[in-house]
Amino acid sequence: MSKDKQKHQQRQQKIKENVDAKVEQAQIERGLLLVITGNGKGKSTGGFGNVTRAVGHGFKAVVAQFIKGGWDCGERELLSQHGVEFATMATGFTWETQNRDLDRQAAEEVWQRCKQWLTDPSIYLVLLDELTYMLSYDYLDVDEVVEAIAQRPREQTVVVTGRACHRKLLEIADTISEVKSQRHAFENGIKARKGIDW
Ligand code: ATP
Ligand code: MG
Repeated sequence: MSKDKQKHQQRQQKIKENVDAKVEQAQIERGLLLVITGNGKGKSTGGFGNVTRAVGHGFKAVVAQFIKGGWDCGERELLSQHGVEFATMATGFTWETQNRDLDRQAAEEVWQRCKQWLTDPSIYLVLLDELTYMLSYDYLDVDEVVEAIAQRPREQTVVVTGRACHRKLLEIADTISEVKSQRHAFENGIKARKGIDW
């Protein structure tokens, strides 16, 4: 065997040992709190990726969309055909908010449904899409949200998406991913695309 090949093999062996040791150390089995945050594209698509994964294994998943609904959202079209329940803000919050009272009320309605989900052990995965904005705009009480998530059934996983996630939510998260934007087509005048951006 060449020296290079031998070196490569030794390196791979070392990596394998490290990974095996970590796999052996991971003994805790419970649901997670995942936060997908940052300014780049991929947070909601990532969250929905987790929903399809769970549904594909036959688990029950639900989705809350903390943005104004009503437009044709590809994920909703598909996943509602597979028994995924959605709670979407019927009125209120868009990106350019105009009526705080209406927004707050709409957020609260969706949140009431979420609170029920967060006590239901038959639900394997709860996606709280764009929840972070409800906390930064102070539409929902952060302590109440943190408590409901922290008290959820042991086997239930929660995925939170949105920019600038509140510190208190990050503190109880198991996995935090920050999607960094290196470039976005929008900055070069390219329109948002059906099936790609929604
Ligand atoms: P996606 O839903 O595509 O995964 P996202 O959830 O990471 O995006 P949001 O901020 O929720 O990001 O995006 C709302 C809309 O803005 C989407 O249509 C998305 O494609 C677009 N978008 C995401 N990141 C950027 C960016 N850096 N600049 C401009 N538009 C963006
Ligand atoms: Mg999003």
